[in-house]
Amino acid sequence: MTGEILCNLVGAVFLLPLGLALGSFFELVLDRLPRGESVLWPPSHCRICSHRLGPGELIPVLSYLAQHGRCAGCDTPIDRGIPLREALSGAALTLPWAVVGCSAPAVALGVGTGALLVGWLAFGVRAVSGRRSSG
Ligand SMILES: [Zn+2]
Repeated sequence: MTGEILCNLVGAVFLLPLGLALGSFFELVLDRLPRGESVLWPPSHCRICSHRLGPGELIPVLSYLAQHGRCAGCDTPIDRGIPLREALSGAALTLPWAVVGCSAPAVALGVGTGALLVGWLAFGVRAVSGRRSSG
């Protein structure tokens, strides 16, 4: 039993950065695709001042906290929803594994990935349709 809890926690520690990174990636995709921009180029930058984000500014959630929620180039506040959705993505992938990961890995990954995709799909549809109706 203790071994299984440990096993679940170790797995969760590995999944958390993956979930955060996926959240960050979906955030970028949803920001760019509706505008017809490339997902791959240019590298992440501030929309206000074009300041290109360095490696230390690209860490999901932590960079936001380290910069007190502001762009390092122009001090413009960054949307609070961004780190929130990144954190939720991390939690979506991690929590099922933390509960049943080592006894039912397929279930844990299935539920985690499913929650992640459904959540982003729902948010994406809302964001894109909202943008369209507001002109
Ligand atoms: Zn900026």
